[in-house]
Amino acid sequence: MAALVQQYVDRIRAEQISLRDGALASYIPELAKADPEGFGLTLSASDGYVYESGDTAVEFTIQSISKPFTYALALDQIGQDAVDARIGVEPTGEAFNEISVDNVTKTPKNPMINAGAIAAVSLIPGDSVGERFERILEFYSECAGRRLDIDMDVYASEKATGNRNRAIAYMLTSFGALTGDPDEVLDVYFRQCSIKVTTTDLARMAATLARGGLNPLTGRQVTDANVIRRTLSVMVTCGMYDATGDWVSAVGLPAKSGVGGGIVAVLPGQLGIGVYSPRLDSRGNSVRGVQVCRSLSAQLGLHFLTVSRESSATLRAVFDPSPRVRVYEIQGDLLFAGVEQVLRTAERDRDDYDVAVLDVTRVNDINDAARGMLIGLRASLAGGDKEAYLVDPEGWVVRADRREDYRGIVFRTLDEAVDAARQLEIG
Ligand code: GLN
Repeated sequence: MAALVQQYVDRIRAEQISLRDGALASYIPELAKADPEGFGLTLSASDGYVYESGDTAVEFTIQSISKPFTYALALDQIGQDAVDARIGVEPTGEAFNEISVDNVTKTPKNPMINAGAIAAVSLIPGDSVGERFERILEFYSECAGRRLDIDMDVYASEKATGNRNRAIAYMLTSFGALTGDPDEVLDVYFRQCSIKVTTTDLARMAATLARGGLNPLTGRQVTDANVIRRTLSVMVTCGMYDATGDWVSAVGLPAKSGVGGGIVAVLPGQLGIGVYSPRLDSRGNSVRGVQVCRSLSAQLGLHFLTVSRESSATLRAVFDPSPRVRVYEIQGDLLFAGVEQVLRTAERDRDDYDVAVLDVTRVNDINDAARGMLIGLRASLAGGDKEAYLVDPEGWVVRADRREDYRGIVFRTLDEAVDAARQLEIG
């Protein structure tokens, strides 16, 4: 199996090797020294297993791929409301280094363009440049699962030629959209752009996003799922700058590119992708990187808006162990659509039973909305003198430590629940 996937990955990379369009970024002189032929691709499965092809050990600077991670760190550290007050989430359709802010709020339109990314840096807590940068480096390292480091030559080169970013930072300061000394914020921004990664680091960082903040390699929860959902949202809408619409249509993966030649892409719940090839198109996206992601998406069916089937059928079995007792065995992922189906069925049948027993033993996943709806079924049936019991040994709906509060309603086994239901019948 693994060998077969490796062949796919090797072939998809090989198909693009002859592509030599584009040019190295030259506005940061040090980046023009990269080997234009460098080309690596890494895929990380959601459990952290990686497939590597080509130059996956070559280090390059992360550049703008840093933006979603610093944004995530800002959300993690100071919360979404405080971040939203400083940085919008509207796509601009502008170039990454556009000197622009929202006309009304005077804040950067989104965190994936330089203005928003510089503002995000200013939101990271820390008393000094060193402290702030260390926090950022630590966070990226946690996502990658190894200690990352900075390329001092690229950093010096960015700093020496960063006048456009200075213009942006000073403009933000003049609008009151940047806290702190703009030169210090810029220094941290130049450093974060100069952090060295490999495609395997990027794939692992992507896998951490794909797993809702859990690094599958280290098993550590780096940040929480709400932070990741917001971060992936802005990657979808703004991650590829002025090529975002084209990217979402053709590739359909939340992603971020950098002028170092890297691209990171995420299939939530399933996959992390890291690709590197330093020749860039006019928008600053890796030419081969974009093509590799296009064919990965097409050949492996990764577009996140692909509708492959109706949301998985959730009712495994429905039967009456006793004349006025009906059991609904529920399986799979209990999200809104699945629970809706269960509730509609149970409510439609309400004349056929006195007690509905919902057996969630075989459920694989659930969310808070589904929990609330299942608990709510009882109240909704009660109006018609019906009772609803739950068989929930794993605590999917009612956590084990809360089971006492639901005594007589929530059971460990189907037999116990059916017995209790029969007593009700007799009584
Ligand atoms: N450090 C680069 C800059 O600020 C990052 C840009 C990018 O990767 N698109 O210009």
